[in-house]
Order: sequence, then C-alpha cells, then structure tokens
Amino acid sequence: MRHDESRALYDRALSVIPGGVNSSVRATRPYPFFIERGDGAHVVDADGNRYLDYVMGYGPLLYGHDMPEPVRAAVQSHAADGPMYGAPTEVEVELAEFVARHVPSVEMTRFVNSGTEATVSAVRLARGYTGRDKIVVMQGGYHGAQESTLVEGEYEHAEPSSPGIPSSFAEHTIPVPFNDVEAAERVFEEHGDEIAAVLTEPILANTGIVMPVDGYHERLRELTENHGALLIFDEVITGFRVGGLQCAQGKFGVTPDVTTFGKIVGGGFPVGAIGGKAEILEEFTPAGDVFQSGTFSGHPVTMAAGYENLKYAAENDVYGHVNRLGERLREGISDIVADQAPAYTVVGTDSMFKTVFTREGPAGGDGDAGDRHVCDAGCRQDESCARYDHCPKTGADVANAETERWERLFWQEMKDRGIFLTANQFESQFVSYAHTDEDVEETLEAYKEAL
Ligand code: PLP
Repeated sequence: MRHDESRALYDRALSVIPGGVNSSVRATRPYPFFIERGDGAHVVDADGNRYLDYVMGYGPLLYGHDMPEPVRAAVQSHAADGPMYGAPTEVEVELAEFVARHVPSVEMTRFVNSGTEATVSAVRLARGYTGRDKIVVMQGGYHGAQESTLVEGEYEHAEPSSPGIPSSFAEHTIPVPFNDVEAAERVFEEHGDEIAAVLTEPILANTGIVMPVDGYHERLRELTENHGALLIFDEVITGFRVGGLQCAQGKFGVTPDVTTFGKIVGGGFPVGAIGGKAEILEEFTPAGDVFQSGTFSGHPVTMAAGYENLKYAAENDVYGHVNRLGERLREGISDIVADQAPAYTVVGTDSMFKTVFTREGPAGGDGDAGDRHVCDAGCRQDESCARYDHCPKTGADVANAETERWERLFWQEMKDRGIFLTANQFESQFVSYAHTDEDVEETLEAYKEAL
C-alpha cells in the first residue's frame, strides 16, 4: 500500500494543526491515512487505498457512508433552505417527539452540538436540580472533554487527568470501579447526601467494551433513588445503537433520570442531546434557572438528518441486520481466538465488537485453545459460565491488558489487509447497515491471518 499523499498531507497538517489532527484519537502511527471519501461500508484514502470500515466515525454512522435516500433528501433540502436561523424550526420538535416516543426515560430533550456538551449540561442540570455538587463516575468511563469527568484515581483521591484542569474540579468527582456494587454502596454510605448524580455509560464503550454484570445498574438505580441523587446514563455511543430505538436502557430494563445522547441521534452531523423527565429537564433555562444555551443547538440540517435517520430505522430492519452481522463477527472471531490466540477475549453486543488482549490465558476456563466464548449481554447474566471470570468487568481489566500490542501489531496488520479498525485497545468498533455477509467473511479471514 502506498501512502505518499497521506504522508504529504500529514506534513502540511503538522504545521497548522496541533499534532496534525483535530481529535487526538485520529493520530495513528506513524501517520494517519487521510480519507478522501466514503463508499458504503468502505472508505478510500488520499492514495486511493480502499478499506472496509469498522470505525464508522467512532459511532455515528449507523448506515455507513451512504445516507439512505430520505436522509440525503432531507439534508439537502434543509441545507438549501439556508443552513440555520437562530430561531426554532419544526424538525427539532419532530426529533424530540420521536426520542420521547421511543426512549423509556425521555419526556423532553434539549439538543446541543456534541456529546461533550451534552454531558457538561447534564452534570450542571443534576447539580442545579439537587443542589448538590458531587458526581460519581466510573473508572475507565468517558464522557468527552469535560473538566468534571477527566479524572483519574479512586474514591476521594481523584485528580485531573489532564494539565489545565484545576484540582478543585476533581474534588467534586468520585470515581469508582464499574460493576463494583460494594464500592458504589460505600460511596453512598459516606457521601449519600452530597451526591448530585451517578454518571455512567450503560456499557463502558470507550475502554475495550465492558458489559455490566447482572444487577449492577439495578443497584445503582436503587442507591440513587434512596439518596435523592439522579442516575444519568451516558448513551452517546449506545444510544440508538444498543437495544435499537429504546437504547441500552431499554435493553437492560433500567430507566435513568437523565440520558445523554450524541453520535447517531444527529445522523452523522455534530450533535448532542440531554433527555429525561420533564420535571428535571424544565430546570434548564428558559423554563428554569440552570443555564443552557448554544448558537448552533438544534441545527436544522442535523435535526433533519437525525430524524430521518431514526425514522428509517423504525421503518426498516436496520437493527436486525447490523445486530445479526455483529453476532456473526463476534462468534467468528471467538472461533478464531479459541483456535489461535486464546489470550484474546471477544467482547461486545448488538452491532459493537472488540477483542481485548488480556495477556494471560483464560481464567475461569481451562485456558486451552478450543474454549470459545463471547463476553456479551447473555454472558453477563450467567456467572456459572466457564469463561465469566475472564470477561473484563472494570476499566482496569482492559487498561491492564497489553494495550500496546493492539496499536503496534494488530491494528497495523489489519490495516495492511484493508480493514480499518479503531486504532487503540479502548475504542469500540461498529457494524453498519452497509456491511454485508461477504464483508464479515473477508474480515474473519483478515483476523485469522493477523492473529
Ligand atoms: N460520552 C461518551 C460515552 C462518548 O463515547 C463520547 C465520545 O466518544 C462523548 C461522551 C463525547 O462526545 P463528543 O466526542 O461528541 O464530544
């Protein structure tokens, strides 16, 4: 594969864009390939190389790179009418109505422009609504580039994880290990009347994919309810990806007070959203006093893309297709792993998948080749499963994997075989409606060779 054009573009970018990229995760080594265009489930780079894409823009592209016809038509027509107005439009009401009809926790939605903006506003809303400052987050969880959640450490020992964030932000954030019921109980015992909210992804989707164990979210729901705190599900990735139109909260049967969205709800255009009970959402200005505002919020082109996107999913077997291919991929990779590389674990659910290199042979299983398993939604409910102990349960389980190996070896090997995976051990991968059974076969062949 030649990469001369990408290398030249990267050299130019390095002079005018810090690190050559506009989002740090894109800075693959030795240099990123620059995309020229998308084509269904594929992308084509500046040198004309074609890759089967499982990055899917890091999640927003449920349909791959070709918009379904009604989505394309709506986007073009709204763009042609004039990009935005600074006054309300019908299509933002239509999208809010759609979300309220399908997502169990949502009666009202405020739209913003990114997942980060959504989680920032959700945290402010929870603090304003409860009159408390502390938020509980999960170690290894990710909620975008916001000061309150960019923390490391545990319990009261949180520190900002980036320079530039005053440590006073971390003072109000309590990180606990995901899936650890006792840790959550302890925090509520010690700080119950200071906690504004527990903020968690229903599935840790930015740290290798960690599924919740049975009963975990249910216990968080009880603890928050008993102590007058809010439960916020960050469904920026899982929203309209896991559990179909009901999202992960529908799949797991746990209803949070507030939900943050992003990615798919904007149909590939910049978006975020905060949804929840009217009583809570109406704390936002101008109905209430918690300040929330944005020049581009509810952008008509984004709203039209999001609305038509979700309507198309409601009217066609989109989730049936992507989830079936997701399962075929996970099962197929787990066969290959069992045969060739038992120290890998296959994780994921619905149309999300990842392999985690756990260093050791399977714990809980016999550690031999032939021990086939996927850590998915079924497994989390079955502690008697031979490989249950082997599934990652916390962010640390993934962080302690041999994460270097993913980027240094595996990602490169797959890229050289024309398969575009997420470039580090932590980010999820996604199947789109544009992927086919033949694509899955091709991917499994590449896994077989690369592993
Ligand atoms: N929350 C979660 C769970 C995410 O995965 C992300 C981004 O990947 C964000 C929030 C931040 O979203 P954005 O990158 O749109 O700001």
